[in-house]
Amino acid sequence: GSSNGSSAGPLFTVSSPNVVYTDSEIHSKYTYRTTKVSREPSGKYVATPQETLYDFKVDRKVPKLGAMLVGWGGNNGSTVTAGIIANRRGLVWETREGPRAANYYGSVIMGSTMKLGTDAKTAKDVNIPFHDVLPMVHPNDLVIGGWDISKLDLAASMDRAAVLEPTLKAMVRKEMAEMAPLPSIYYPDFIAANQEDRADNLIPGSKASWAHVEQIRKDIREFKESHDLDKVVVQWTANTERYADILEGVNDTAENLLKAIEEGHEEVSPSTVFAVACILEGAPFINGSPQNTFVPGAIELAEKHGSFIGGDDFKSGQTKMKSALVDFLISAGIKLTSIASYNHLGNNDGKNLSSQKQFRSKEISKSNVVDDMVEANSVLYAPGEHPDHTVVIKYMPAVGDNKRALDEYYAEIFLGGHQTISIFNVCEDSLLASPLIIDLVLVTEMMTRIKWRSQSTGEAKEEDDFKSFNSVLSILSYMLKAPLTPTGTPVINALAKQRGALTNIFRACVGLEPESDMTLEHKLF
Ligand code: NAD
Repeated sequence: GSSNGSSAGPLFTVSSPNVVYTDSEIHSKYTYRTTKVSREPSGKYVATPQETLYDFKVDRKVPKLGAMLVGWGGNNGSTVTAGIIANRRGLVWETREGPRAANYYGSVIMGSTMKLGTDAKTAKDVNIPFHDVLPMVHPNDLVIGGWDISKLDLAASMDRAAVLEPTLKAMVRKEMAEMAPLPSIYYPDFIAANQEDRADNLIPGSKASWAHVEQIRKDIREFKESHDLDKVVVQWTANTERYADILEGVNDTAENLLKAIEEGHEEVSPSTVFAVACILEGAPFINGSPQNTFVPGAIELAEKHGSFIGGDDFKSGQTKMKSALVDFLISAGIKLTSIASYNHLGNNDGKNLSSQKQFRSKEISKSNVVDDMVEANSVLYAPGEHPDHTVVIKYMPAVGDNKRALDEYYAEIFLGGHQTISIFNVCEDSLLASPLIIDLVLVTEMMTRIKWRSQSTGEAKEEDDFKSFNSVLSILSYMLKAPLTPTGTPVINALAKQRGALTNIFRACVGLEPESDMTLEHKLF
């Protein structure tokens, strides 16, 4: 049976003339309020409130969903799979600190709440689980599968990962041993040479080919059929690749990229081949690693096919702290002048990143995360001025998956004084990343069931005027270090803003105003 509460109906309904529930859909009329600013010749601004009227339509039928992971046999892949099994079966296991029970801590969707409103009688806040805002898939109901260049089954993979307690492993071992990754594509030049001894589960061919695209598409279709799934979301949680060079005529347009794959061009990465296969198959594809999988041609292809893509690089530990702390410092009017970020880790990710080109991908994705916050504060920073920012990563096998992240934030305060904040953050890497993998799948799937149309033109509208969100799912930014946004639109890194976008878009779909912390009801009486 389904563990999804939706069979008993939603936890709340919205009582408003703008919101209509049918058996299959939720319709809302939503007024989006923004402010348009123009600058006068005098240099002063004029701010004009604007209103756009949207119709949103949410498909209420929760589908049977599959998640296919590229790199399924890795630390993240094996940990998230065991974690879902543990939750599905409600497992409790012994640890030296006493019994521990399965949970979804670290998942925004499963572990956090949203303020619905204030209680009509007591005027206290009413908060509901995020998972109940819209009719979402429950992670316990996900069917997991995927590919890996290493053929170990998932039980052996979780042993190799050395993340989970032996007592928990024993309880899920039988089920995990029955799962094995599909063979994958391996182009040795894209990941570290030190990964070669893992590569024993391969689709033949060591550079991009159309046969690879076809095989991946076939794998997705067969997985869907064999598990009787309505939809599949694919996620890259395989090794970090080096950057692909952006070459004119090769990966700069959709057409060129398809041609480059057909011709076996050396500069097309495995992750881009996966992305192309998913786009053509209509399966959303999320990139959890830092490399530039989404070359311009891949983005254009996704837009052409109306397929969803999202990325890049899970934001689990150090960067999540950074995008919260820097947001706080700069919003507090404190002038951050340097960030020194140092990591060491001992898992296979660290081993791969000990190679310069792969490290470089990570360095890029970790480096731009404060730009929007700095740029937004013209009081503290002159145009083009940036805090110093350095990122170091070292491979130290002994610490395994327990990554150490040491950060020093150095800031200028009142009258030339200084504030130094030092953080020592031990990030159990895969245990932080697994809930993000789940959130990315659940939110992405939800976005496939939300349609919109604008009423601003005032013309009579046909039922089929409804469209999907843009192919590039920037709503996933909260979970990602280097958020991909639709071409030409700004990147938001500030964590609170990212969460605000996620929360308020979901609220809009049920006709609720954005979360406002004004609480005038407690101030004006
Ligand atoms: P891992 O090395 O344990 O797992 C990666 C897996 O991918 C391995 O099993 C490997 O055999 C497989 N693989 C490599 N190339 C492949 C290909 N072409 N096709 C299929 N499988 C392939 O690493 P991990 O700790 O699970 O992390 C996975 C990725 O997520 C890394 O790129 C890492 O940088 C990224 N990431 C992780 C975290 C985190 O764990 N907190 C945060 C951000 C990003």
